[in-house]
Amino acid sequence: MRSEQGKELPPHVLIFPYPVQGHLNSMLNLAQLFCLADFHVTFIVSDFNHCRLLRHSTVPATFSRYPGFQFRTLPDGLSDDHPRAGERVMEIMSSVAKVTVPLFKKMMLHENLLASAARRPVTCFLADGLMSFAADFAHENEIPLIYFRTATASYFWALFRFPQLLEAQQIPFQGKSMDGLVESIPGMEGFLRRRHLPSFYRVDDVHDPILGKVVAVSRHIVRAQAAIFNTSEDLEGPIVAQIQKHVPRIFSIGPIHEQMKTRLIEKEEEASISTASLWAEDRSCIHWLDGQPSKSVIYVSFGSITLVTREQVLEFWHGLLNSSQRFLWVMRPDSVAGKDGIPADLIERSKEKGLVVEWAPQEEVLNHPAVGGFLTHSGWNSTLESIAAGVPMVCWPYFADQMINSRFVSEVWKIGLDIKDTCDRSIIEKAIRDLMEVRKEEFLERADNMAKLVKKTVSEEGSSSKNLDRLIQYIKSLLL
Ligand code: UDP
Repeated sequence: MRSEQGKELPPHVLIFPYPVQGHLNSMLNLAQLFCLADFHVTFIVSDFNHCRLLRHSTVPATFSRYPGFQFRTLPDGLSDDHPRAGERVMEIMSSVAKVTVPLFKKMMLHENLLASAARRPVTCFLADGLMSFAADFAHENEIPLIYFRTATASYFWALFRFPQLLEAQQIPFQGKSMDGLVESIPGMEGFLRRRHLPSFYRVDDVHDPILGKVVAVSRHIVRAQAAIFNTSEDLEGPIVAQIQKHVPRIFSIGPIHEQMKTRLIEKEEEASISTASLWAEDRSCIHWLDGQPSKSVIYVSFGSITLVTREQVLEFWHGLLNSSQRFLWVMRPDSVAGKDGIPADLIERSKEKGLVVEWAPQEEVLNHPAVGGFLTHSGWNSTLESIAAGVPMVCWPYFADQMINSRFVSEVWKIGLDIKDTCDRSIIEKAIRDLMEVRKEEFLERADNMAKLVKKTVSEEGSSSKNLDRLIQYIKSLLL
């Protein structure tokens, strides 16, 4: 198909992420990588998130440079004051299915799969791995489907092995030790314990509807032509090899944010490195970090979804103060459950040793020379950003994939400590002291080696970079 000027039109990729911060970040980075390959890209975003991207991020300015890129907005079906955090974040799944998907289908059919004089109909549908409708939709409309799993390959694999876990009576957990070894997930034998399995397995009834949904969604992957993981062969090679037995065409192209940075630097377009924040970044923390000694600050953030109780905030606060370390703490205004919110004296007393902000430019913070550690909820984007920046972690996993991520950080890659789901001031204090003082050199050295490894992975000869090139070639081949 040619444009009115007679030029052959490039592939047109349709990207549909789950409407939360972490998924948007990695899928927007991928969209930009496709723009750099001169593809046309349509990116589905919720009205709610689009308004926030316009207000708080550099995304509109960045993507205005790519004429082949377009946003299409649709409602996510939730009211503007819905919390979209904590356990209630799962409500997005049903509201997207009920409200967004029918509108999306209508749009696609009315607009001839988004074709125009300057754009082919969609060449391939790149759907978030949580979009279960995508397999039927792609099949009915004869569009090649690529699923993008934004979390770890290990998490996906632990969900995919649900039938074997059930058969081995690893689940449900009742009456069994959380420390029991799980031996029915090939590639993770010997180090994975029950407590590290996806949080959705922590139910009394294996017919629990949410567990049913996340497991069912993971099985859809076999209906796609290909799958993308935001991981690398260095990080999860043996696990990806296991998944490959079921999904032969897998592209491990992560860490995508680092891949994107590397390609922009190669093209001397560093100015186009964007941030997709849905909250206003408080840049005062960068000036504050400028005044702190090298590797002296522990950065504290629990991502965009975690809800903590007031009691938990107090445990972290005391743990941090008792550790005597400097800290930069991100506390989203909506992140503390309960009416009392953040204790006012917390903010006041934190001034002695640290700074509290509502949202930070996280990648920039992690790459700041003053930052020497990260107290994190082990969200996969945060973990990858910390790995790429060479910053060791104290992990306090909250839900979903975070338990498995924190196990890999502490036991497989050995670049941090896992305090599991305990929230006790003395445990927090000890872990922070160990990371920032007692075992500082050891952790920094390993984290630095790991950072070098992932940087190599996204460099020209690295496996993730080659896999991205293969992905681009594969999408081009769909036109033939
Ligand atoms: N993030 C940020 N500023 C903050 C806190 C988080 O930019 O103050 C970004 C962070 O860089 C990451 C994303 O929000 O890319 C959070 O994703 P992650 O997968 O770590 O956790 P989730 O929010 O999905 O639980």
